Amino acid sequence: MDNNFDIIIIGGGIAGVSAATTALNRGKKVAVVTNPPETQNLYKAETVTNYPGIINMSGKDFAELLHRQLNESGATVIMGRALSVMDFGGSFGVAVGNEYYSAKAVILALGITREKLYPGEGEFLGRGVSYCATCDGMLYKDKTVALIGSGHEAELDVEFLRGICKEVLHFSENRPYVISGGMKADTVSDGKEEYKVDGVFVIKDTVSVTKLVQGLEYQKGGIVVDDKMQTNIPGIFAAGDCAGIPYQLAKAAGDGNIAALSACDFLKGK
Ligand SMILES: Cc1cc2nc3c(=O)[nH]c(=O)nc-3n(C[C@H](O)[C@H](O)[C@H](O)COP(=O)(O)OP(=O)(O)OC[C@H]3O[C@@H](n4cnc5c(N)ncnc54)[C@H](O)[C@@H]3O)c2cc1C
Repeated sequence: MDNNFDIIIIGGGIAGVSAATTALNRGKKVAVVTNPPETQNLYKAETVTNYPGIINMSGKDFAELLHRQLNESGATVIMGRALSVMDFGGSFGVAVGNEYYSAKAVILALGITREKLYPGEGEFLGRGVSYCATCDGMLYKDKTVALIGSGHEAELDVEFLRGICKEVLHFSENRPYVISGGMKADTVSDGKEEYKVDGVFVIKDTVSVTKLVQGLEYQKGGIVVDDKMQTNIPGIFAAGDCAGIPYQLAKAAGDGNIAALSACDFLKGK
């Protein structure tokens, strides 16, 4: 696969699908990196009654319809979790697992983002804490690791690590974990007990947005954008819930449309 795109969109919810279809209609080469539809906020909605053109549809059906539209849109759909966006000055690199993709512009359509990390998670990231089992698992061959996370990706990663490591301690995510250590992380506490480990994998649906993109301006409630959905980093746009309130489908779809048009303008002459 050719891994170079005009625009990479991260997140395949309504904001990401809106951005993708708009950019494709403008003739752009588009990739969308996304987790499965059941991770969209929309999926949890019992019934959607306030989106034009949709009459009493369940959130699950709407989310699956969006995913189908994305798959049939002509965008390259990359199923997985984007781990980092790197600014190479003129282009951006996006890491998904141990694959890299590049684009001239990036649209973040991540849904609601939570900056809260476990104590020690940010401090030891890259020093015993990892977000990617397939990238870093071999560093812990025949060693003991902890994996904090629930859901399909976490289950697959536990299975993968069990094939490499001496022991894998699997924790579901909703406990007051603390990661500690010296030069490297070596202990996980779940609030009751302490566990000695060689490494810790933290597998969530999304990664903290300020860890995903270094230098991105973020304030409580969302990524800071202007009225063109441009962030403080030229070439990176944000749309939908990750760009702040109101957390509503109509606003997210509109944001995606504006972000894509702005990205297309940004690409002129590039
Ligand atoms: C219970 C509930 C009911 C709701 N009911 C309504 C309603 O009736 N009407 C209404 O207007 N709104 C409703 N909402 C709000 C609405 O669902 C959201 O505003 C809308 O889904 C936001 O769309 P989005 O595309 O910004 O984010 P999302 O729908 O959350 O999609 C974001 C996608 O990006 C993925 N993602 C995030 N980070 C990464 C990454 N690093 N790599 C790859 N993929 C990533 C996520 O996993 C997700 O799949 C409801 C929300 C909830 C929780």
